Amino acid sequence: GVRDGLGAYIDKPEKYPPSVVVYHNEDFVAIYDMFPKSSLHLLLLPRDQTKTRLHPFDAFEDAEFLDKVKAEAGKLCSLAAGELRRKYGKDSAQEQARQAALSADPPPDELPQGRDWEQEIVVGVHAVPSMNHLHIHVLSVDRYSDRLKHRKHYNSFSTPFFVPIDDFPLGPNDERRRPTAEGYLKRDFACWRCGKVFGNRFTELKQHLEQEFADWKRV
Ligand code: 5GP
Ligand code: ZN
Repeated sequence: GVRDGLGAYIDKPEKYPPSVVVYHNEDFVAIYDMFPKSSLHLLLLPRDQTKTRLHPFDAFEDAEFLDKVKAEAGKLCSLAAGELRRKYGKDSAQEQARQAALSADPPPDELPQGRDWEQEIVVGVHAVPSMNHLHIHVLSVDRYSDRLKHRKHYNSFSTPFFVPIDDFPLGPNDERRRPTAEGYLKRDFACWRCGKVFGNRFTELKQHLEQEFADWKRV
């Protein structure tokens, strides 16, 4: 069924072009999310046959496996940061300051750092995944995408429904383990960037996200 759609990438990653499969190795496949909920949205798919059908909370109980996933997710996050720099670097005030310093004659002894794009990426899983194969989301923080069409799309990345990979291992009584975790999706919308609350006004939220996206690129 449709919930098994990620299995094909795990089985035959070599079949796909680089616009679909970012890279693959023996243990992982990294892909572009087909319905991105941010301007950059990747998925990391572990290939371990003993894990791929498990809920992430269960799969990540294995400390050795969790470490491996964290390490690979870190690599994908660096790669994603590079992609953000290529896409938005020219818009960013920090990057512009760095470029200006570089082209000064003579260049200053200490260059401005430029923007740390890894800070602009989140990595985690959904408390209640919709797709069956174990997958880790790696996405830019902007939540700016045509494919973000439903309230649950926004809240699934903007409430405790999204569980950052660094929060694992979860404590036994962590509230995100509860079967009621789907309740997070019904929360009022709050802007990821400024915290402004929009109740259930999705159109207003979307307009605001567009403005925040433009400002975020320029920081
Ligand atoms: P979940 O809600 O299960 O954590 O996220 C599943 C993700 O898989 C969603 O972000 C969805 O857009 C993505 N997705 C669903 N089907 C496909 C597919 O066939 N190919 C790719 N590349 N992504 C998919
Ligand atoms: Zn805002």
